Amino acid sequence: MTSIIPDLKSYEVWFLTGSQDLYGEETLKQVAEQSQEVARALGGASDIPVTIVWKPVLKSSDAIRRLALEVNAADNVIGVIAWMHTFSPAKMWIAGLDALRKPLLHLHTQANVELPWGEIDFDFMNLNQAAHGDREFGYIQTRLGIARKTVVGHVSNPVVVASVATWARAAAGWSASRNLKLARFGDNMRYVAVTEGDKTEAELRFGVQVNTWGVNDLAEAVHAASADDIDTLVDEYAATYSVVPELLKDGARHDSLRYGAAIELGLRSFLEAGGFSAFTTSFEDLGALRQLPGLAVQRLMADGYGFGAEGDWKTAILVRVANVMGAGLPGGASLMEDYTYHLTPGEEKILGAHMLEVSPSLSTAKPSLEIHPLGIGGKEDPVRLVFTADPGPAVVVAMSDMRDRFRLVANVVENVPLDAPMPRLPIGMALWKPAPDLATSAAAWLTAGAAHHTVMTTAVGIDVFRDFAEMAGTELLVIDETTTLREFQKEVRWNAAYYRLAQGM
Ligand code: MN
Repeated sequence: MTSIIPDLKSYEVWFLTGSQDLYGEETLKQVAEQSQEVARALGGASDIPVTIVWKPVLKSSDAIRRLALEVNAADNVIGVIAWMHTFSPAKMWIAGLDALRKPLLHLHTQANVELPWGEIDFDFMNLNQAAHGDREFGYIQTRLGIARKTVVGHVSNPVVVASVATWARAAAGWSASRNLKLARFGDNMRYVAVTEGDKTEAELRFGVQVNTWGVNDLAEAVHAASADDIDTLVDEYAATYSVVPELLKDGARHDSLRYGAAIELGLRSFLEAGGFSAFTTSFEDLGALRQLPGLAVQRLMADGYGFGAEGDWKTAILVRVANVMGAGLPGGASLMEDYTYHLTPGEEKILGAHMLEVSPSLSTAKPSLEIHPLGIGGKEDPVRLVFTADPGPAVVVAMSDMRDRFRLVANVVENVPLDAPMPRLPIGMALWKPAPDLATSAAAWLTAGAAHHTVMTTAVGIDVFRDFAEMAGTELLVIDETTTLREFQKEVRWNAAYYRLAQGM
């Protein structure tokens, strides 16, 4: 079906070079040429997922301010990279930086790798001043409190390119967040605390529009699916998955698969018509729907939609953002839930699942399409994809509403193979070892008040979320191999004070 994961090359990042008129025409011509070379090197690097667009050298306050306004207004421009090739007096940047509303990367680089020992003269010194020109720029950014990423080094260095690429992916995620319309079908699960949250604040902080529709509006779309479209989709299932015989055309439960296909068709048409790229469902509020959406939700997540179960719109945002940030990379993003533990000392692991709603993008194996009873919801047995996430590195990230702000908490984890088959657990799932170890990870997670729902991504690492959190001005607590519980507890306390102060009055 139709993926809504964008081609990140359709997004532009503008490359800005700072200088001033003082240097004269000849030097400024060289500044322009050399900055174009840097922009070309970045744009041509296979890691960089976006289109890099060089802009003429900036030499005045007015030009910088006008350019910032242009960046703000252009929907396909998701951020800017700035480099002060020469000395660009930073008061020229105040109005522009103050106006800029998109992510900024400060690239602290220079045209040459080596000092030209035998050749260096005053002309060279006049032309190559980024070592102090960028310090002037760093000062004004910090003085103005501008959120940004600073990357240091020559563009021929793969570490530099990778760092810019990470930021560009985060900027794409931020753009997806700013443009996200999220449909909730029903409210969140009754009595649950962590899936609550301030939807008005979420629209201000993340740009996400979170609104609710009656589930019977969805049921109407599901029941309007045509028999022909259902036939086509069922054929696609048969071609894509190992479908159990009872669900196949002459199987005893083929009708259940057809109903699962109708749910997918209805959901897609509803989401497409409303321009939604994320949604939630609630097993407590299924209205006229005969099954809890399982297969459909799994496939929609794999196609780039955000999803949260039990009305969890905050996790749905994270799944959508992670899907966009991982565009074009192996792996995927999914709703995940810490379900149950393997507590053998030294081999501790977490089994993650959500009964139904886990994305098959976490697995490269062919999923099995099956039908089994579900103990909750009181509806017909739902069809679902059964698989285990591929072994390899992954990240889980949760969002909590801390009353006066949002908090992101992430754990770096390693997905591992099952110790033994689990034939009586026919669901989509993952088994992982959390860093640094289960005891520290779980204690830190609980200390942070992090949610039990997460997005799990196997496509991008923790650094993309760090850059995303910086763009969003949102706290991110990271639990990784360097984490100790004592330091983590202090960070939580210090952050609480910092973020309260940073909000101002
Ligand atoms: Mn749940």
